[in-house]
Amino acid sequence: MIDTTHLLDTGGLRLALSVFVLLAAAAGAQAQQPFTVGPITAARGSIASGVLEVPARPGDEGTTIPVSIIHGARPGPVLALTAGVHGAEYPPIIALQRLLKNVDPGALSGTLILVHVSNMPSYLARTIYYSPADGKNLNRVFPGKADGTLSERIAHTITREVIEPATHLVDLHCGDGNESLRPYTYWITTGRPDVAEAGRGMALAFGMDHIIVDRERPADPAASLYVSNTAITRDKPALTIESGALGQTDEESIARIEHGIAGVMRHLGMRPEGPAPVEHPILLERSEVLRSSATGIFYPAVERGHTVAQGRLIGRITDFHGRLLEEIRAPFAGEILYVLGTPPISKGEPVAFVAADR
Ligand SMILES: [Zn+2]
Repeated sequence: MIDTTHLLDTGGLRLALSVFVLLAAAAGAQAQQPFTVGPITAARGSIASGVLEVPARPGDEGTTIPVSIIHGARPGPVLALTAGVHGAEYPPIIALQRLLKNVDPGALSGTLILVHVSNMPSYLARTIYYSPADGKNLNRVFPGKADGTLSERIAHTITREVIEPATHLVDLHCGDGNESLRPYTYWITTGRPDVAEAGRGMALAFGMDHIIVDRERPADPAASLYVSNTAITRDKPALTIESGALGQTDEESIARIEHGIAGVMRHLGMRPEGPAPVEHPILLERSEVLRSSATGIFYPAVERGHTVAQGRLIGRITDFHGRLLEEIRAPFAGEILYVLGTPPISKGEPVAFVAADR
């Protein structure tokens, strides 16, 4: 006769044992798990590179987004670094090329996702602000649309494949091809308080001493507009930084970005070594983008980094026959973070960015 009680007992024990084995295997697998971004997979302690495809739709040919994963030997944060959101901003792109060569995945806790050129159509056509494909500013269309224009589909792809799996993000910019800019960081305060506080720590860790306190980003994750704000509205601490200007690839601007990323990696515990946070930052509580109310030729009257009094002339705009159309003046005393360095100006576009600590 079959002893059913005994069978049940043994079965129960087997079940418990197999659950235990499964859980242990899952924990082990998590520690050893590869990291995947779209079609790109990196094993623990290794680097993998590839492209995210943005397929063609009626009206455009689609594009590709080159990405590398540096998957550390040990678990830790997933830091996404985006370059080339504006296609003529080169120091961030070159800094990520160097990072790819210089970071040892064997000595890394956590994972870096490098987006080398976010906006390939703009990069290849050398356009500032706007994509040649649809006339849109990629950093104003996030989180994007699966069936939208090319810029919207790039944004959708980056949101889904890069921002969603990340725990932290730094969006790397500089003065666009027409902007003469001194380096600074945007610390965005509009997210969840703990996310904003973590973003403050990252801003200090990046090391640049001019920090804009940015209180005006939208809070709706479905209309986040900006790359870094797409992370923040998904409760992931993030920053935007600016280093470089005027389509140049100067060593100082590139090295500053490398230094900043190394500081953030140390701050997040991804590597034991790295630069210390900035000690005496200037928190710029007040800032204003000055816009043109006319189309024509811009003549700057200040340089980046200049300190200006309230009412000081920032620049003049004339028409194409030399007649003065507008004088742009400082709305308050502050510092010029950027000013246009080339003549073209269209109505409504920025001509300068002024900021002050109060
Ligand atoms: Zn930019």
